[in-house]
Amino acid sequence: MTAASEAEFKDFWRECTHCGLFCRLGPRHPGEVAECPRCGTALWRMRRSHMNFPLACAMAGLLFYIFALMAPFLEIETYGRAAFARLETGPIRLTEGGWELLGTLVFIVTLIMPGVKLGIAIITLLGLETGLPRRLLKSLFRWYETISPWAMMDVYLLGFLVAYTRLTPMFNVHLDTALYALIGLMLSMAAMDASLDQELVWRRLGHEDLPAERGEAQPIGCMVCGLVNHRPPGSPCLRCETILEPRKPASVTRAWAYTIAAACLYVPANLYPIMNLTSMAKTQPYTIFTGIVELVKNGLWPVALLVFFASITIPLLKLVGMAYILVTCQRGSAQLMRGRTLAYKIINVIGRWSMIDIFMISILVALVHFGQIANVTADTGAVCFASVVILTIFAVDAFDPRLIWDNAGNAKEDHKA
Ligand SMILES: [Zn+2]
Ligand SMILES: [Zn+2]
Repeated sequence: MTAASEAEFKDFWRECTHCGLFCRLGPRHPGEVAECPRCGTALWRMRRSHMNFPLACAMAGLLFYIFALMAPFLEIETYGRAAFARLETGPIRLTEGGWELLGTLVFIVTLIMPGVKLGIAIITLLGLETGLPRRLLKSLFRWYETISPWAMMDVYLLGFLVAYTRLTPMFNVHLDTALYALIGLMLSMAAMDASLDQELVWRRLGHEDLPAERGEAQPIGCMVCGLVNHRPPGSPCLRCETILEPRKPASVTRAWAYTIAAACLYVPANLYPIMNLTSMAKTQPYTIFTGIVELVKNGLWPVALLVFFASITIPLLKLVGMAYILVTCQRGSAQLMRGRTLAYKIINVIGRWSMIDIFMISILVALVHFGQIANVTADTGAVCFASVVILTIFAVDAFDPRLIWDNAGNAKEDHKA
């Protein structure tokens, strides 16, 4: 597989995904970033590495993934009794305890999605080499970007850290071999994301289909592969066959619906206990806040701050931030447009990190089940809190930030970035 050449990227158009400006991108040197001149969004970064490097990362990730599935990653011991946790133990115990939704959610984002993401990368990159049908590869690679934020191995490892600090005062805790596989998996996936040039993959997948000249219709930037099509709305993208829409449909209404639903659940998520801890026949419920207080009492300030930020600050910032962006967008405000676009980008990036507490509960439930001696069960607050996290991710995803610029009366213009 050859590396990207500068000539391969001579002059192409992109619609900025955050403000809708059409930009003409000239040839770039490897590592250079093309930024939108209006809102500063990175439109494209030409990667330095060869296409074989992300493939090697994906293969390494797959080996770590298989290993992580086969062995336990954490073991605890108390009064001569031991318990160990594998990736699937938490979801299984949550389901057995009557929290099926929570169990399924953890199962999907920690077991299914990382595997699917690695599978898509490996099949697409190997398929390009071996000449698998392009149509099949396109329909697979179309999902790569969509499922990426849902493969939450990085967040899971932080959840593990919090669970570990809670277990060490009560039990003999042993780290098991699969933990290193999970760390390897996270690092391989990060390296794969950093080195994979999606534009280059799309070019090689759809090269023969690219239109030679501009058509009559208004340009629409494809939300999946980025190609600027001159075709009417509702027609398929020439490169990846996704249906073209000038803006996300019913964007503001859907974003409001998810934000309001999440705001309603934010209250019970903080009032109800997220888990119950039984120790020596005494059961104590923990809300998000009392969990943090407990960490502070044990002198674990850094972990307490991490949980406070992930579980209380981020969800609140997301709700208030989304409401502010939606209200100002609907009113057609022309102020702070770059700032509001940046706020949207930040909300988009930080959202998934709120899952730390949910993963911590899943690991504690997996391990601590020694009857009256020590036992952990999930509770209503955890379901409400997980729903807040998921609904806010949906809200951010439903909103089209280009509307901030459209509604402020910015006519579409063309630019050379
Ligand atoms: Zn822009
Ligand atoms: Zn496309």
